[in-house]
Amino acid sequence: MKIGILSRNSSLYSTQRLYEAAEALGHKVEIIDHLKCDIVIEQDNPKIYYKSNKIDYLDAIIPRIGASVTFYGAAVVRQFEMMEVFSAVHSQALVRSRDKLRSLQLLASSGVGLPKTVFTNYSKEVKTLIESVGGAPLIVKLLEGTQGHGVVLGPTKKAAESIIEAFHAMKARVIVQEFISESKGADIRAFIVDGKVVGAMKRQGKEGEFRSNLHQGGSGTLIKLSKQEREAALTAAQAMDLQIAGVDMLQSERGPLILEVNSSPGLEGIEKTTNKDIASIIIKYIEKSLEDRRVNPGRRKKAKKHA
Ligand code: ADP
Repeated sequence: MKIGILSRNSSLYSTQRLYEAAEALGHKVEIIDHLKCDIVIEQDNPKIYYKSNKIDYLDAIIPRIGASVTFYGAAVVRQFEMMEVFSAVHSQALVRSRDKLRSLQLLASSGVGLPKTVFTNYSKEVKTLIESVGGAPLIVKLLEGTQGHGVVLGPTKKAAESIIEAFHAMKARVIVQEFISESKGADIRAFIVDGKVVGAMKRQGKEGEFRSNLHQGGSGTLIKLSKQEREAALTAAQAMDLQIAGVDMLQSERGPLILEVNSSPGLEGIEKTTNKDIASIIIKYIEKSLEDRRVNPGRRKKAKKHA
């Protein structure tokens, strides 16, 4: 197979590992910076140029699109899909996963547990907002935040009110969420490939930190998911139509609560914690999907229709 990894930085751990794993399994691999792709649109003849070379030879792509470049990255993925190149993440699912409101709505309708959450269009009714998630302590999250940036704990009603008002005054849109204190600064990351949990870890925030993100100094340890956690993670990934996903959840008194489903989950933390070659599992999933498409080309047409 000829595989393109869409990544802005070839030295990133995840990009490197996918490259090595694909090569080791006998494939030709190329790293393509999606922001340097030109998309040519004309009737029934979609084309992509990368640094002035026409890219018309790939069988599959693995999008590793950062949150800040979702718009253009997803357009490149969509163009590859129109050229009938298999994408490990559908462009539609990628875009959907980056919209926190839409994601939480989809997850809620799939029946998985979620922390009580409120979105608002700069509401002046801040007291009512706070009451609707059960009062303080609560969590305020910047809608555009990633890696734990812009996730703030409002310990009291007064503090929560000031935080929400300050964000609103800055025209920063936020979500307000009940604080799950029993998770004690830890969350769970379940890595899913093709309907299976292929690795799971518990991330614990450093002393005095409620955010468990590894980027905020948290550390990962191997865990075995309970049946309920496994089912919640799989349902969440399925609801988002992601075959490769990192599902983050909190352990609470009422069972697992989904925080978010990541469509470009990093490999470093999960591979190092679980000691598993997850990159190869991803490449094997792509091999299987291409084989399925070869045997059953009807499905490919159907997928194209949905694009
Ligand atoms: P990001 O997408 O920026 O990582 P998250 O929503 O995942 O933001 O929040 C970052 C971390 O903060 C989580 O991994 C978790 O440890 C903690 N956290 C987030 N929401 C809650 C909550 N409602 N209750 C308790 N802890 C939370």
